[in-house]
Amino acid sequence: MKSIRNNLFMLRIIWRAAPRRIFWELLFVCADCAVELVYTLFFLRFIIGCIEQKIAFGQIAVCILGYFGVSALVSCCGVYLKQAVVPQTNVLIQSKLMDMIYQQALKVDLSCYENPKFYDIYTQANEEVLTRTTEILSTMSFLVSIIMSMIGFGAAVLIYEPFILPFLLAAMVLVQAVQRRFVEARFTRRKATVGERRKMDYVNRVVYLQDYAKDLRLTHIFAPILRNFHEAAKSSREVSRRYGKRAGIYRIFSSVISSLTVFLGIQSIIVYRYLVFHQYSFGVLTTVLNAASGLDGCLGDLIWAGARLNENGAFIENFREFLSYQPKMKEKEDAVIPQNGRHDLELKGVSFCYEGAEKPTLRHINMKILAGQKIALVGHNGAGKSTLVKLLMRLYDVTEGEILLDGINIKEYQAKGYRSLFGTIFQDFKVFAATVAENVLLKPVTNQMEKERVKEALQESGIYKKIQTFPNGMDSILTKEFDEDGILMSGGESQKLAIARVFAKDSSIAILDEPSSALDPISEYEVFENMMKACKGKTVIFVSHRLSSATLADRIYMMEDGEIIEEGNHQELIEKNGKYAEMFFKQAEKYREEEVL
Ligand code: ADP
Repeated sequence: MKSIRNNLFMLRIIWRAAPRRIFWELLFVCADCAVELVYTLFFLRFIIGCIEQKIAFGQIAVCILGYFGVSALVSCCGVYLKQAVVPQTNVLIQSKLMDMIYQQALKVDLSCYENPKFYDIYTQANEEVLTRTTEILSTMSFLVSIIMSMIGFGAAVLIYEPFILPFLLAAMVLVQAVQRRFVEARFTRRKATVGERRKMDYVNRVVYLQDYAKDLRLTHIFAPILRNFHEAAKSSREVSRRYGKRAGIYRIFSSVISSLTVFLGIQSIIVYRYLVFHQYSFGVLTTVLNAASGLDGCLGDLIWAGARLNENGAFIENFREFLSYQPKMKEKEDAVIPQNGRHDLELKGVSFCYEGAEKPTLRHINMKILAGQKIALVGHNGAGKSTLVKLLMRLYDVTEGEILLDGINIKEYQAKGYRSLFGTIFQDFKVFAATVAENVLLKPVTNQMEKERVKEALQESGIYKKIQTFPNGMDSILTKEFDEDGILMSGGESQKLAIARVFAKDSSIAILDEPSSALDPISEYEVFENMMKACKGKTVIFVSHRLSSATLADRIYMMEDGEIIEEGNHQELIEKNGKYAEMFFKQAEKYREEEVL
C-alpha cells in the first residue's frame, strides 16, 4: 500500500513537471497493447477462417494491409515518444526533481554534511532520481498494458477453456513466492552498496574538480585516495556477488516454474482437450493457446511489475525521507526578523561539541561585542576561532549556554533574517561560475543601483581597475564551467573580490575569517587596515592567527584549546605579558628575521 502511495506521489510530480509525457506514454501503451491483442486473439483465427471459407485473396490482403497500416501508425507513435517526447520531458522532469533536491539540500543543517547516514540518503536520492523516474513511468505503462492484456486474454480463456484457470493461478502463486525473494535480494544489494558508491564518488570528484588538479599532479596524494577507491570497489563487488548469486538463483527458479507450467502443463491440456473432445475449430485453438500463454505471461508480468512497484516505492521512500528531513535548528513560527542597524552581541557560557566528536570544541565562552566594536579572535590553528564564528552566524546551534542579540537569544530570530545581518568572508571563500557582479552581491543583480553598489565595492577593495580590463567588465563570467571564455582570476584577485562582498553588503556586522591568510603579514595588515576604514561604524569580528593585524582591534580574545585564555586590547595584553605577548613577540621576531634574509 505504501509502495503504491509512493509511486503515485512520484507520478504526481512527473505530471506537474511534464504532463505531455504521461499523456503520450498512456496513449502509446494502450494503442500498442490493443494492436497486440488483436493480433494474438483474432488475426490468426481470422486468416485461418478466411482460408477455410475460401474468401478471395484480394479481400484477405486488404484486411492484412489495414492491420499492418494501423500497426505502423502505432509504431510511429512509439518512435515519436522515444525520440522526441522522452528526451525533452526527461530534462523537464530532471530539472524539477533536482530543483526539489537542491532546495532541500540548502535547507538542511550544516552538520548533515558531516553525517555519513544523511549523506547516503542524499547520494541515493541524487544518483537514482532520473533512472527511477524512467523506471516508474515504464512500470506504470507496463501495468496498464498488463491489465488490458489480462482482460483480453482472460475473456478468451473464460469463454473457451475456463478449466485451465486454476492451473494458471497455482503457477502464479508459486512464481510470486520466488519472485518476491529475487526482488528483495536486488534491493538489498543496492542499499548495501550505497556507502561504497559514495566513497567512489568522492574519488571521482577529486579527479575532475579543478581545486584538486594541482596537488594531484605535484604530489603522490592520489595513491592513498585510489587505494580507498579500490577498497570501496572491492567491497561493493563482494556485496554485489553475494546478493547477485542469490538473485540469479531465484530468477532461474521462477523461469523454470513458469516454463514447466505453461508449456508442459497448460498447453498440453488444451491440445489434449482439442484432439479428444473436438470442442472448437483449429482457428479457435490458436486463439486459446495464445490466450493461455498470454495470460500466464501477464500473471508473471503482474508479479514482476508489483515487485518493481515495491522496489521503486522503497527508493521513493528514501527520496521522501530526504525531502521531509526537518532541520534540527528549529525556527519558531512567530520568529522575529531583526532590523538592519546597530546590534550588541553576547555569548553567555557557550560550549559546543560537533556531532560525533568526543570532546567539546568550545568551552564556557563568555564574550560581549558592542555595536561598532572591532573584535579580533586570535590563537593558534585549531583553537576554535572559526567554530565560534559559525556559532555566531547560527550555522550551528550551541550545545550549552546562549548567544544573545540585543539581549534576545538568537534562536528567537528568523534564521535567514538573522544571518543577513552579517557580511562574511571565510578563509575558504569560493568564486562561483557567475558574473563578477553576481559574485560580489551573491545574488542576481536586478537594477542599476545594485550595479553601482558593486562598482563601489570593487573600487574599495582595489580590484575595479582590473575588472574593467575584462571584455564585459562587471558582467564577465568567472570560471570556465559555463563559458569557454570565462575568466580565471588569480588567488590575490579572488581574495579582493571576496573582500568586495563585505563592502557591497549593507550588513551591520562584518565577519572576516582569515580572508587574507594567503598574503604576507604586511599586506595582510594593509588589507585589514583598509577594511577597518571601510567598515567604519560597523561591528567587525575578524579571525587571525597573525597578531600584527590584531593591534587594530578594540578588543582581542586570545583562544586556546576551545577556551578564551586572555582578553583586552593590544596594549593591555602586552602589559599582561602572558601567552598573547609571548606569541606576538615570537611572530614579530620571525618577521624581522625574514626581512633581514
Ligand atoms: P581555528 O579556526 O581556530 O583554526 P576551528 O574552529 O576550525 O579552529 O577548529 C577547532 C577544532 O574543531 C579543531 O580541532 C577541528 O578539528 C575541529 N573541527 C572543526 N570543524 C569540525 C567539524 N565540522 N566536525 C568535527 N570537528 C571539527
